[in-house]
Amino acid sequence: MLKQVAEGVLIHQSEFLQSNAVVVHGRAGVLLIDPGITGDEMACLANDLRESGQPVVAGFSTHPHWDHLLWHAQLGEAPRYGTARCAADIRAFLSNPHWKDDVAQGLPPEVAGDVPLDLFGLITGLPAETARIPWDGPQVRIIEHQAHAPGHAALLIEERGVLVAGDMLSDVLIPMLDLDAANPIEDYLAALRLLEGVAGDVDVLVPGHGSVGGADQVHARIDQDRAYVHALRDGHDPSDPRVGPSAKPGWEWVSDVHNGQAQRLARRSECDGTPG
Ligand SMILES: [Zn+2]
Repeated sequence: MLKQVAEGVLIHQSEFLQSNAVVVHGRAGVLLIDPGITGDEMACLANDLRESGQPVVAGFSTHPHWDHLLWHAQLGEAPRYGTARCAADIRAFLSNPHWKDDVAQGLPPEVAGDVPLDLFGLITGLPAETARIPWDGPQVRIIEHQAHAPGHAALLIEERGVLVAGDMLSDVLIPMLDLDAANPIEDYLAALRLLEGVAGDVDVLVPGHGSVGGADQVHARIDQDRAYVHALRDGHDPSDPRVGPSAKPGWEWVSDVHNGQAQRLARRSECDGTPG
C-alpha cells in the first residue's frame, strides 16, 4: 500500500480527500507523519510496517485538525509530536469532556464510523523554536508558521529533498485560512514566503491532500496559492483551477469553501474597517 516518493520516504494516500500519510525510514524504525484517516487503512499500514521489520519510532502531526491527529493502537506507542502551539490547541480541545461527540458529529458521512478516536490527538508539543524532530533518522526540519491552523508545520527532510507541506501547496484544495487568527491573510502570505525560502532544496513536494509534485511544482504551487490569497484579499474572483468548473471531479465543493472564506473576510472588514 506504500508508494516510494524518494529514497527512504514513502506515502500512503487515503481515498478520503487524497490525504497523504508519510513514512520516513530511520535507523531503528520509521517516522510517521499524519498517519491516515480510517481504522482499516492505519491497521493495514501498521501491518505492512511490522512485516517489513520497521516499527513506528516517532509520529508527527502537522497541525491540530482532526484528519491529521489520528492514530491506531497497532501503530504502537511511539511518541507523537507536534509544535508547541499545535499541542496546546489540541490539549484545550481535549479538555472539553464532550470532545469525542464533537469530533464524531463533524466527521464526513463517508468515513464516520470508521475513524478510531481512542488515541486521537495525544500529541507531545516540541518546545517552541525546536528546529528538528528528535528521532534517529534523516534530519527533518520543522518549518512552523501561522497559516492554515495554529502551530501549522511543514517538514523538510533535507537529505531526501522532500517537503511535507501539511495543508498547503495542494493541487486540489485552495488555501484554507485560519479565519480565527488576527491577521489570516498576512499570516498566509508570510508562510508562503517561508516555504519559498526552502523551495530550492525541494525535489519532491507532498501536500497533506492531493498529488505529490516534483521540483517544477514547488514554485508553481506557491505562486498559485499566493495568487489565490491575493484574490481573496482584494475581493476578486480567483481565476484558480481548483475553484469553479475546472475543479477535479469530486472536488466541486471547494468552490463553497472559497465562497465561505470570501464572505467571512468581507464580514470581518465590515466589523473592524480594515481588510483581512
Ligand atoms: Zn487536512
